[in-house]
Amino acid sequence: MGSISKSKLVVTQSKQTDQLYRRLGLSAIGSAIVAMVMVFIIGPKANHFTISLVWLAVISLVSLYRWISARIYNRLKDREKARHNWKFRFDIGAYMAAISWSLSVWLFYPLGHPAYQVMMILVMAGVAGGAISILSYDKKIITYYLLIILVVTDIRLIMLGDELSLQLALLNTLYYLFVLKGGRDIANGFYELLVLREDTEEHNLTLLSATESVARIGYWQWDMQSANIELSSNLVTMCGADSKFVEFNSCLKKVHDDDRLRVQMAIDSVLKSGEESSVEYRLHAREADDWIIMNQVIKRITDSSDQLFLLGTVQDISVIKSAEQKIFDMAYYDELTGLANRGHFREHLLDQIKHVSRNKTQLAVLFLDLDGFKEINDTLGHDMGDMYLQEISKLLKSKVRDEDFVARLGGDEFSIVLDSIQDGMFAAETAERCLALKQQAIKVGNQSILPRMSIGIAIYPQDGEDADTLLRSADAAMYSAKQNGKHSFAFYDAQMTADAAERLELESDLRKALENNEFKLVYQPKVSVIDERVAGVEALIRWIHPVRGFVSPDNFIDTAERIGLINEIGEWVIETASLQQQQWKAQGLQLEMAVNVSSSHFSSDNFVQYVESIQQRYDIKDGELEIEITESMSRDTAKHINVCKELHQKGIKVAIDDFGTGYSSLSVLKQLQVNTLKVDRSFIQHLPDDESSALMVKAIVAMGLGLGFDIVAEGVETEAQTLFLRQLGSPYIQGYYFSRPVEAEQIPELAKTRFQISPPNQPV
Ligand code: C2E
Ligand code: CA
Ligand code: CA
Repeated sequence: MGSISKSKLVVTQSKQTDQLYRRLGLSAIGSAIVAMVMVFIIGPKANHFTISLVWLAVISLVSLYRWISARIYNRLKDREKARHNWKFRFDIGAYMAAISWSLSVWLFYPLGHPAYQVMMILVMAGVAGGAISILSYDKKIITYYLLIILVVTDIRLIMLGDELSLQLALLNTLYYLFVLKGGRDIANGFYELLVLREDTEEHNLTLLSATESVARIGYWQWDMQSANIELSSNLVTMCGADSKFVEFNSCLKKVHDDDRLRVQMAIDSVLKSGEESSVEYRLHAREADDWIIMNQVIKRITDSSDQLFLLGTVQDISVIKSAEQKIFDMAYYDELTGLANRGHFREHLLDQIKHVSRNKTQLAVLFLDLDGFKEINDTLGHDMGDMYLQEISKLLKSKVRDEDFVARLGGDEFSIVLDSIQDGMFAAETAERCLALKQQAIKVGNQSILPRMSIGIAIYPQDGEDADTLLRSADAAMYSAKQNGKHSFAFYDAQMTADAAERLELESDLRKALENNEFKLVYQPKVSVIDERVAGVEALIRWIHPVRGFVSPDNFIDTAERIGLINEIGEWVIETASLQQQQWKAQGLQLEMAVNVSSSHFSSDNFVQYVESIQQRYDIKDGELEIEITESMSRDTAKHINVCKELHQKGIKVAIDDFGTGYSSLSVLKQLQVNTLKVDRSFIQHLPDDESSALMVKAIVAMGLGLGFDIVAEGVETEAQTLFLRQLGSPYIQGYYFSRPVEAEQIPELAKTRFQISPPNQPV
C-alpha cells in the first residue's frame, strides 16, 4: 500500500465511509427480506417458532437502524465534521447485524430436519457473501463481521455434536476462511483504488495550479458575510499577499487610483444584478514592482443555504497588453527613430485636414529630405547612417512645438505637420529652425556631421485639399529647394517663398540693427493750441537699413515683437529720447518727451524699474516723460493697472495712443490714472465735413476734458481740421500741418516758431 500522508489518509477514510454508506440502505432492506423469507421457510421447522419471530423483529430493527442512518448520512451537508461519529455508528450497525445473524443459529436452528439445517447454513453463507459487497470497503469490518458469524455458528454446530452438524461446521469453516480471504483481498483492492483516486485528484490539482501559474490566472472567493476574501494560492503569489485570507479594503487599496472606482462599481453591479461582469485594472502587486494589468471576471453565486458568494477569476494580462502595445507601436511608429511612420502620418494628416477645415484655419506640411545622406551611408556604413537618422529625429522633435507632428516617411525623408497656423510664415520659421540645425554638429562614431536638408512646404487648403495632393505639393516644393542649391526651404507657391525669404531676411537684419546702430529717432512736435507753441515732442523710431534704406516702423515693430526684440528696442528708444531731452534742457529748451512703448515691453517684469533708472540717470522731472501705450492694452489685466499706477506715482505720464479705435471706457482710464488721450488720426482725417467723425471727436474732447484728461489730436494735416479742433477746445494738436517728424537738430528752431492757429480774420 505504501506510505501515505496523514491528510491523504483522512481524505481516503472519508471516501471509504461514503462508499460504505452509499450501499448500506439497499443492503439493510435486502437483509430484512432475507431474514423474513428464512423465518417463514425454516421457522416452522425450527424448535421455537415464536423465538424465530422475535429474532426476525430484532433483525428488522437492526436493518431499520442501518437503513435510517444510511439515509441521514447520505443527506448530510457537512459530512467531514461528523465523519468520525458516523463511521462509529456504521461499525455498530454492522456488528449488531453480524451478531443477530449468528444468533439465528442458536435461537431457531431446525433440529431433526437435515435439509433445513443445510439450508439454514447456506442462507448464513449467502449473508456472509452478500456482506462482501458492502463491507469490503473496510478491511477491519469485513474481517470482524465474518469472524463473528463464523465463530458463533461453528460453536453452535460443534456443541450440537451430531455428525451432520460437525460436517456442516467443517464446511462452514472452510467456506468462511475462503470468503474471509476473498473479502480482505477485495478490501485491499478498494482501498488502493481510493488512494489512487486521491492521488489522481491531488495530481490534477497540482496540474491545475501549475496551469494557473503558467497562465497567470488566479481566483478568489468572497463569502459576503465576512470582510475577508479567500485567494487561490496562485493569486496569493501574483498579488504578493501575506496570506490566503485578505481584507477586501486592503485589496482595493492596491488597485490604481484611477481604476479603483471601476472595480468597485463592477462588484456592486454584479451584486445587484447577478450578471457576470468583467473589469480591467492596474494592480500594484509588490512594493518594488511596476503596475500589473489584471483582467477580472466576477460572478455571483448563491449556495443551497442561500448564502451569497462572489467568485472572481483574475488574469494577469500585462504581457498580453505589452504585446498589444508593441504591435500598435510597430503599426504606428518607425522602429529606428521612434517617430510616427508613414501610415500614422497619413492618418494624422487626414484628421488634421478635417479639423482645420472645420475651424477655417490653415495647416502646413513640411517635407524634409536630408542632403547628402547617401554619402554618409556609403562612407560611414549603414550603422552610422542609422545613428545619424536617430540623432536627426531627436533634434527635429526639439525644434517644433509639442502639438506639431513629426514623422519619418522612410529613408532620409521626414515630414512635419503644423496645424492651426495663421499664415505660411510660421511654417517658414519652423523650416528655418530646422535648417539652423546645421550649426549643431552631430557626432556619429568619431565623425561629426553638420546636418543639411532641403525642405518643401505646402499649405492647406491652397496647395492641396487632400492629404495626397498636399504631400505631393510639399514634395515638389522640396525638389525645387534642392534645385536651388540645397539646404534651404521652398514653398509650393514660389511667391510665398520669395515673401518668406524676404521676411526672414528682415528678421535676421533686424537682430543686427541695434548692434549696427541702424536705428535713429525723429521727433514730431506737439503744439499747444493756447499759446500756439511747441509744448513737447513725440519720439518716433526710424530704421536706416544699409541696403533697403529707410524702413517704416509699421514694417518692423510687429516683427520685432514676434522675434522678441521689442523690449531691447524699446529701452534704446527711451534712453535715446531721454538723453536728447537732457541735451535740449541743457540748451534751455524745456520740452515734454513722449515715447511709444509696445504692450509686451510695458507689461514686462522690470519695466517700471527700468523707467525709474532712466528717470534718475537723466534727471527727469515730474511730467517731463510720457509713455504712449495703445488703447487695447489699457483694458488689460491687473498687471497694466499696477504699472500705470506705479508710473503715476513716479511722475511719469501715461497717454493712450490711437484713442477711439479700441473700446475702452473713459471711467476705467480715469481709474488707471492715465493722463492723456491721443485721438486717433482716422477721426481727424475726415474733419470737419464728415458728420460722424465730427460728432465723435466732439464727444471725446468734451468728455475727456470733463474727466480731466489732456487731449492730443493726432494726424492733423489741414487748417480746417486745426480750426475745428480749436473750436472744440482740444488743447494739443500734432500733425503734418505744423510739422512732420523731424531730426533732433531741427527741433530748437521749431520750438522758436509761433504757430498761427486762430482764424486769419480774427485778431490774436
Ligand atoms: P503712432 O504712435 O500713432 O505715431 C504717429 C504716426 O503718424 C507716425 O508714423 C507719424 O509719422 C504719423 N503722423 C504724424 N502726423 C501725421 C499726419 O498729419 N498725417 C499722417 N498721415 N501721418 C502722421 P510713424 O513714425 O511711421 O510711426 C508709425 C507707428 O509706429 C506709430 O504710430 C507707433 O505706433 C509706431 N512707432 C513709432 N515709433 C515707435 C517706437 O519708438 N516704439 C514703438 N513701440 N512703436 C513706435
Ligand atoms: Ca504714438
Ligand atoms: Ca497714434
